[in-house]
Amino acid sequence: MTELNNAPAPAPAFPGGTILGYPRIGRMRELKKALESFWKGAISEAELESAAAALRAENRARLAELGLGKDDSSIPSNFSFYDHVLDAAVTFGAVPTRFANLRQDDGSVTLGGYSTIARGEGAKAPLEMTKWFDSNYHYLVPEIGPETEFSLSSTRWVDEFLEAKAAGFLTRPVITGPLTFLYLAKPSDDAPTGFLPIERLADLVAVYAELLGKLADAGAEWVQIDEPVLVADIDADRAEVLANAKAVYEGFVALANRPKLLVAAPYNSLDDALPVLVDAGVDAIAIDLVRGAVPAAVAQGTQIVAGVVDGHNIWRTDLDAALTKVAAVEALGAIVSVGTSTSLFHVPHTLKGEEHLGEELLSWLAFADQKVTEVAVLAAASGTGDVSEALSEAREALASRKAHAGTNKAEVRAALDAVTDADLKRSPYAQRVAAQDARFHLPELATTTIGSFPQTPEIRKARAAWAKGELDDAGYEDAMKAEIASVIELQEQLGLDVLVHGEAERNDMVQYFAELLDGFDVTVNGWVQSYGSRCTRPSILWGDVTRPEPMTVRWAQYAQSLSDKPVKGMLTGPVTILAWSFVRDDQPLGATANQVALALREEIADLEAAGIGIIQVDEPALRELLPLKKKDQAAYLKWSVDSFLLATSGAADDTQVHTHLCYSEFGEIIDAIDGLGADVTSIEAARSRMEVLPAIRNHGYERQIGPGVWDIHSPRVPSTQEITELLELAKESIPGKQLWVNPDCGLKTRAYPETKATLENLIEATRAVR
Ligand code: GLN
Ligand code: ZN
Repeated sequence: MTELNNAPAPAPAFPGGTILGYPRIGRMRELKKALESFWKGAISEAELESAAAALRAENRARLAELGLGKDDSSIPSNFSFYDHVLDAAVTFGAVPTRFANLRQDDGSVTLGGYSTIARGEGAKAPLEMTKWFDSNYHYLVPEIGPETEFSLSSTRWVDEFLEAKAAGFLTRPVITGPLTFLYLAKPSDDAPTGFLPIERLADLVAVYAELLGKLADAGAEWVQIDEPVLVADIDADRAEVLANAKAVYEGFVALANRPKLLVAAPYNSLDDALPVLVDAGVDAIAIDLVRGAVPAAVAQGTQIVAGVVDGHNIWRTDLDAALTKVAAVEALGAIVSVGTSTSLFHVPHTLKGEEHLGEELLSWLAFADQKVTEVAVLAAASGTGDVSEALSEAREALASRKAHAGTNKAEVRAALDAVTDADLKRSPYAQRVAAQDARFHLPELATTTIGSFPQTPEIRKARAAWAKGELDDAGYEDAMKAEIASVIELQEQLGLDVLVHGEAERNDMVQYFAELLDGFDVTVNGWVQSYGSRCTRPSILWGDVTRPEPMTVRWAQYAQSLSDKPVKGMLTGPVTILAWSFVRDDQPLGATANQVALALREEIADLEAAGIGIIQVDEPALRELLPLKKKDQAAYLKWSVDSFLLATSGAADDTQVHTHLCYSEFGEIIDAIDGLGADVTSIEAARSRMEVLPAIRNHGYERQIGPGVWDIHSPRVPSTQEITELLELAKESIPGKQLWVNPDCGLKTRAYPETKATLENLIEATRAVR
């Protein structure tokens, strides 16, 4: 042995450029297909494993080809079969008691068991699913109690690292951090009242330490620990969060056997958590410089991964602006690498195959693969590389976007400039309700549904044939009309008071409008994971929004012509249209929301002119875009509420405006809901057994509300008795005159048998309670 070998090994430097994660689903949604085949029993567990391994191999090779290093830890190993939070749960042994039988002798679960925890089985509910920070991705909520036996129960992360290593790639394993894991968890069913998952931090951290040792033994030089919870204002004392961060990361740093630690904090600024991580001595920190700001200061020599390429949106990076940010962080005295602001799993794989968008729009965009190239260019620019060509291409694209007629329509700008406060106001509610009562004569506890009826295979077939050109416009129109007619007939038979047309013609409640409005485009293969194997294809809102012609009127009018009862007109609200699209980043979201609102306002006027008296404007995503930092929330709620008011306030007094919101956690935004001013608001309430209603009563809510009495997430048919009880409960808080009876949400994911049976029970229960 030479003397040199006795010297401490030089710390592996962090690579000059990296991404925090890559889409997991596959360019052609290979993972979705493999998973769903596995669930159907069409392929074996081994076949699913090999499909996933092939996908990982393909991704690694592609990332190297796009410019990430094969042997410098810049390629992340961030694969997941279903969800990264579920992966952490099964790795650390946090399997709820009701699924304990799925654990094998060594504590691990098979892919079958893993799927069961994610999807439920019989009476065993799956882990609850909820939104991941301010994104449209849903994670599975771990259930933690005093009984949770943390232990290293899976070698998957180590195995995936070794798999890459064997193929010649030194990757960087990505792990959900312990703070994020526990603060996002909920108390298990077995936990005593008042127990908080974070109480188990020390026990959990010991298992992380064991894992870090195993990764080091396997040869990992760097590991990425994701701690987005540190950027959010959560329901916990900030000082306690910071103290926990200090304890956890000081502990990890002190471990004798561990890889270098990159702590990643996507989605906003770390603020006061940044010095805590620096002082703890973690080896590198990834900060979000798209949503978050350049920090005021950072200790000399701190290794920072500057997240200047937006991982959460699809616009081509302004490389000059990105380099300016990098320089600003360097000026603080940090050592800077370039990175994405978040994992790229929020964006589609590639622009290849989207040529239909046209060269100009394409040149403004960057999907995951294009962003990897941007990272490589920026890393080269921060070094000594000559990237002048890439820089000038990016400048040209930016200039073309700015100058394009579609991003600056004079008539849209003028229409918005002309909006005054009066346009955001309807008459006082008392006056409206009198006019509406006189027009509709609805009974107390009026019954209705949220809009969609089951999307039958026939509807999907007709749409597919129409898209392929096998069915002409007239044929498609007839198929949809037939569906509408049968939905109306069913509702008449059931005896509902306010009908819907069923939304058969809508593939998706946002894309439908995106396809009819100008300023949007849709992709053919721009899928992003929403949860598990479920993907959505967000539309691209790139320009000023205009409405070339009415979008919903002919369907609404047809439906109304079939019944003497009121049929609701059905629109998607501005915030939801924004939340479920990729939205231009060259002006404030509020300005874009108002453009959408003006188009909806015109649509409402046309619906009214066509005789539609009840119009519902859905805003299920209102809470989703709520900023992670409390200081930003008031401004958000103001513009989001104003855009809804701009859309709806042109309605006549005797037009009844409904809105629908898809969740029951109202506390935090009850003022905003009140601010929307809808005559009738339907919400989810069945699962929580009307829990939210006392709060609404105490807040003093004068308008009408439809707390859902059927949890449509499950095919279970609630009995008349059960619905009756829920209605009695609701009446304890809200007078019958203000109450509506409806399911929790739309019925498009349900089938007809349970839909008919439940709606029968709903009507019977309503009659009993009236
Ligand atoms: N009107 C829509 C439907 O019934 C509402 C969907 C939603 O809230 N997500 O499908
Ligand atoms: Zn809903």
